[in-house]
Amino acid sequence: MKPVDFIIVGQGLAGTSLAIRLLDAGKSVLVIDEAKEQTASLVSSGIINPITGRRYVKSWMFDQLLSEALHFYRLMERRWGIEVIKPKRVLRALSNVLEENLWSGQSGKQDYKDFFGKIIKDKVYTQAFNNKVVFGEVRNSYQVDIPGLILNARKELKNRGVFIQERVLDSDIHIEDIISIKNYKTKHAIFAEGWKVINNPFFKKLPFDPTKGEVIIADLEDYNLEDIIKNQKFILPYSKGGYWIGSTNENGVDNNLPNAKKRNELHDFITACVKGNYRIMQEWTAVRPSTKQRRPILGAHPSLKNIFLFNGLGTKGASLAPYFSKMLVKHILKGDQILNDVDINRHLF
Ligand SMILES: Cc1cc2nc3c(=O)[nH]c(=O)nc-3n(C[C@H](O)[C@H](O)[C@H](O)COP(=O)(O)OP(=O)(O)OC[C@H]3O[C@@H](n4cnc5c(N)ncnc54)[C@H](O)[C@@H]3O)c2cc1C
Repeated sequence: MKPVDFIIVGQGLAGTSLAIRLLDAGKSVLVIDEAKEQTASLVSSGIINPITGRRYVKSWMFDQLLSEALHFYRLMERRWGIEVIKPKRVLRALSNVLEENLWSGQSGKQDYKDFFGKIIKDKVYTQAFNNKVVFGEVRNSYQVDIPGLILNARKELKNRGVFIQERVLDSDIHIEDIISIKNYKTKHAIFAEGWKVINNPFFKKLPFDPTKGEVIIADLEDYNLEDIIKNQKFILPYSKGGYWIGSTNENGVDNNLPNAKKRNELHDFITACVKGNYRIMQEWTAVRPSTKQRRPILGAHPSLKNIFLFNGLGTKGASLAPYFSKMLVKHILKGDQILNDVDINRHLF
């Protein structure tokens, strides 16, 4: 069999965005994914939130990232005739005067004006919760249907005959001038395996910090809000019914097994804060591919120049993947530079 230009290992958000860009650049591609159900991309709520953290600061590189994300996801909407990205208001709980004051202070900053809306004290919102809160409105926020994007891309890859559902083991990879992975031959391999990169023989020494998250999909009897609410945890309508509630954080993990204690944290949150009875519909566990520096890592292996990495999307894959997949593809195909903050070469192996 003739070698393909690229084999991509992993078809989460990272591998999907690369595959689309390489196919559209006229390259031959083969994508290999073990197709597990509870991956970071498939359980993600897909929120793009410009204002984050306890001090309500603008997210890193937000303007550039959002512009490329809107462009890329809208192309995918036209490609498959589906909705991928929609504007969605985030309402951030402010639980005391200090938080309200901080919020008001930040909202007055010149380059923050597009992102801060009004403080909402409307009973429709405040009475949905047991804890005393008002809400700060975050504007220019979005929700991306990441599972929908991945599953539509997988359908296209299968139709093109370039998707293989298998797990890649170390022993399946042989590197020479032509690389072979599971007996498929390629000129270049790109690894986009999410948190499982910690087992990858070429890249496992990089500073990854996999962070496990638990999620609950629940029917909330007396709750009826359409916005994305951040009141300690996120609560937002789930596309297949009920509400997506999450998530938890557990750093430095090496497995994706459910953590009962962390799940209870979500149950306790619902019981304490959300009014009315609830019924659990689903419980999911997945691991975010975070890094110690909280920045993606991309580029070629320092000594094996036909092997590449695209990883470290962490908690913000929805905004990071379009911009940095474009950067990596331009680097590989045209020799364009990779931004220093995310360049694999800034790390020691
Ligand atoms: C609970 C939770 C909530 C989140 N919410 C948000 C949010 O609101 N907004 C946001 O922007 N981000 C969010 N994220 C983060 C976002 O989901 C991730 O940044 C992104 O999905 C990571 O994509 P990825 O492709 O790098 O990894 P993954 O989604 O993990 O994909 C990796 C793929 O590689 C495959 N794979 C791995 N190893 C192998 C192998 N050896 N052989 C074959 N296949 C392999 C896996 O099966 C998987 O399909 C959330 C994550 C979690 C866990």
